[in-house]
Amino acid sequence: MRKLPLVDLHAQYASIKSDIGRAIATVLDSAAFVGGSAVREFESKFAAFCECSQVVSCGNGTDAIYIVLRALGVGPGDEVITVPNTFIATAEAISNTGARPVFVDVRRDTALLDTAQLEAAITPRTKAIVPVHLYGQTADMDAICEVARRRGVAVIEDAAQAHGARYRGRRVGTLGDAATFSFYPGKNLGAYGDGGAMAFMDRALAQRCAKLRDHGRSDKYLHELVGTNSRLDTLQAAVLEVKLAHLDDWNNARRRTAALYLERLADVRDLTLPVVAAENEPVWHLFVVRHPRRDALRDHLEKQGIGVGIHYPVPLHLQPAYAHLGYSAGEFPVAEELSSSCLSLPLYPELTEGDVDRVVAAVRAAL
Ligand SMILES: *Cc1c(COP(=O)(O)O)cnc(C)c1O
Repeated sequence: MRKLPLVDLHAQYASIKSDIGRAIATVLDSAAFVGGSAVREFESKFAAFCECSQVVSCGNGTDAIYIVLRALGVGPGDEVITVPNTFIATAEAISNTGARPVFVDVRRDTALLDTAQLEAAITPRTKAIVPVHLYGQTADMDAICEVARRRGVAVIEDAAQAHGARYRGRRVGTLGDAATFSFYPGKNLGAYGDGGAMAFMDRALAQRCAKLRDHGRSDKYLHELVGTNSRLDTLQAAVLEVKLAHLDDWNNARRRTAALYLERLADVRDLTLPVVAAENEPVWHLFVVRHPRRDALRDHLEKQGIGVGIHYPVPLHLQPAYAHLGYSAGEFPVAEELSSSCLSLPLYPELTEGDVDRVVAAVRAAL
């Protein structure tokens, strides 16, 4: 029986192999391995894609959040609000500035930040909110930005899973003070190694972040800020530029697959399907269903050779690394419920309708 993976990076590489080879050879011939025109070209094309003013690339999506927070002056004694049901990087970036992550639970239907609970979490120490556009769907940015503006705090979109998503017609990267992206290989736009970027409407903030990611430099040996070394490799920039040209098509293919799943799994008892808010046009980084007997469903699918995932099995407030924050079980009931019931089904642009039918049949057989 052929294995059907959760994500298939081989299939995508096969479809662009010769273009990738040419792009890599061009960088090797130029012998510019850090910086250079390939990085600037990718930044400007990704800014056009995001419909924002400027993009600054960096080493990875975790650093992207960290650098923007630093540029906004966030540090020890400050608090930054985010959600507990995300990859740990979101909170790690906050912690690494010296600030304290403060969690707000998510909505049961969309698994996105529950804006009804947001204002109560803001204190005089709060400097920023980092909503996560989880699974490729945008958090309710109008409500978040309204509270943020009124209370004088910044908003950074964690768009690591949402390259190209739209909210009320506007692309992520234009909705808050800044947005951060990851180009980890499995993301909707993935490098062949690590990579990240920050998107801005405000050029002054972009300039500050551009300095911070490159040793706080304003000239080769003139350092205005205590920065860090977090640059996008030139080889990765060349790879990303090739792949960016396909991203709208790939996101559309993900949408078609998601639509098939939604249609063909609609009547399965006790299976909760993803809900898309009316204002959203998601890019389906993951297709996540929920079931009260999730582990049994996962075991069944794995036995059928179908790759599945759990995003994420332990909410951040219950991670050992965050024991010092003093949170306890029961504090974020929706995030906790999601962690024990969610299951990610195979979803990638090259997945065929036949593959979807095979997954659907296996889910039906299991339940
Ligand atoms: C992948 C991811 C990150 C971190 O990105 P890296 O490039 O791996 O550092 C941050 N936030 C979310 C929600 C992610 O999915």
